[in-house]
Amino acid sequence: MTGESNGKLTVKEMIPEIKFTKLFINGLFVQSLSGKTFETIDPRTEEVIAEVSEGSKEDVDLAVKAARDAFDNGPWPRFSGAQRRRIMMKLADLIDENTEELAALDTIDAGKLYHLGKAIDIPGAAETFRYYAGAADKIHGDTLKMSTDYQAYTLLEPVGVVGHIIPWNFPTQMFAMKVAPALAAGCTMIVKPAEQTPLSALFYAHLAKLAGVPDGVVNVVNGYGPVAGAALTSHMDVDKVCFTGSTSVGRLVMQAAALSNLKQVTLELGGKSPIIIFDDAELDKAVHLALIGNLYNKGEVCAASSRVFVQEGIYEQFLKKLQEKTKSWVVGDPFDPNSQQGPQIEKKQYDKILSYIEHGKREGAILLTGGKPLGEKGYYIEPTIFTDVKDDMIIAKEEIFGPVMSILKFKTTEEVIKRANATTYGLVAGVITNNLNTANTVSRSIRAGSIWINCYYVFDRDTPFGGYKMSGYGRDMGMEGLEKYLHVKTVATPIYNTPW
Ligand code: NAD
Repeated sequence: MTGESNGKLTVKEMIPEIKFTKLFINGLFVQSLSGKTFETIDPRTEEVIAEVSEGSKEDVDLAVKAARDAFDNGPWPRFSGAQRRRIMMKLADLIDENTEELAALDTIDAGKLYHLGKAIDIPGAAETFRYYAGAADKIHGDTLKMSTDYQAYTLLEPVGVVGHIIPWNFPTQMFAMKVAPALAAGCTMIVKPAEQTPLSALFYAHLAKLAGVPDGVVNVVNGYGPVAGAALTSHMDVDKVCFTGSTSVGRLVMQAAALSNLKQVTLELGGKSPIIIFDDAELDKAVHLALIGNLYNKGEVCAASSRVFVQEGIYEQFLKKLQEKTKSWVVGDPFDPNSQQGPQIEKKQYDKILSYIEHGKREGAILLTGGKPLGEKGYYIEPTIFTDVKDDMIIAKEEIFGPVMSILKFKTTEEVIKRANATTYGLVAGVITNNLNTANTVSRSIRAGSIWINCYYVFDRDTPFGGYKMSGYGRDMGMEGLEKYLHVKTVATPIYNTPW
């Protein structure tokens, strides 16, 4: 399963030298205080890529101290929006200049497709910095005409020191969608990347310094969640935590915030999202969207369409087409430009996915394709499709986070709305139909943060993204993604020199 080449370069030649493996605190790469390191593993080969410094509570304390000082006394929150914009634009340009190296880091660290990293993830991160850079000098409050002889205005001020805790499935996009709006708002921050994928975050920290982001504004502390992550969430000097990850850890994050300084929390959590395919849908398009919705990024996507509801009139045709289409789906080395699916992130996740597949078989779902690991080396799994799935099966209820699709049959619109909503999650939903009334009715009835009509995975800088119910709250991206880093301060004053 190791691809031989991509164009002129061999895979070996495409793998960059690992330049940054320490913690990034106050503008410097430093060893952890304990001197401890942990291994980051290449999921293509199961081999160690590098030993990375492991942050502890004491390292988090140092990073928070640097961020606190940069916020309370440093230039970043005091810069004009235009000054912040210029530095963020420079950072975006540096990201573009380093696209190949960054894409390769995410490929070896997370098993992500190199060609998509180069075409989507890395340029997308640069654009995210530009989007929020463009907003940095347009942050302003309102003038309020009060009902008394007073007037008031609002000031929008940065919330302060922010802890960003991010997962491994989109290391680059997560870094950009958290860091860029917080920078634009004038916050200072500590990023805790997932322990599986620290490499690109450290590279972005280096680029931020090159771009002119002052020391202490962006700090990166690698380490494990229950140690470094927990130290951030319970820290008395962190004003806000923005967390993306599992619902179970999201609950711990809120708990820690509540038990420490009641810091603000926003949570982007898991999902078990439905894609609903009606009889009148264009069949080829529906098959393509269901496939992408489950196999893109090897199914390691919070918004995966892991419950595929298909109306009974096209059910059989849909299965036939889907089966055919899946045959040509290419699983292979993510450096190979022909690959459509790379390895799962790590052994633990790989085992978890395989155990869900066993659950599916035991519970009586029918395996249409796949179901097995692939290759001798690396965490590769066949694209797996279960049909005849029932709502109460484990594979229809729990987030699998792998290339496993569950197909459920339905009869009527009312029925499918009820079943689609019968989940504790509410992240996204897809609606595939040519009937406008159906599309409108379903869009308004599904309790989820994003609805994609006749499309899937349609994100952009200006589209707010986040969940209902136990998929979390708060939004990343769009102007909502910036507002959450701003406090509203109200200033009131008498209009006339009247006695108080
Ligand atoms: P995870 O919750 O295990 O870890 C996420 C991050 O939290 C990691 O950095 C981890 O080190 C840290 N962490 C773990 N325990 C912690 C603790 N006790 N205190 C503080 N931090 C802690 O999730 P994961 O396995 O890395 O990612 C997969 C999950 O993320 C899935 O559930 C997926 O749906 C979700 N996700 C959601 C979105 C979204 O936008 N809604 C996007 C991507 C992933």
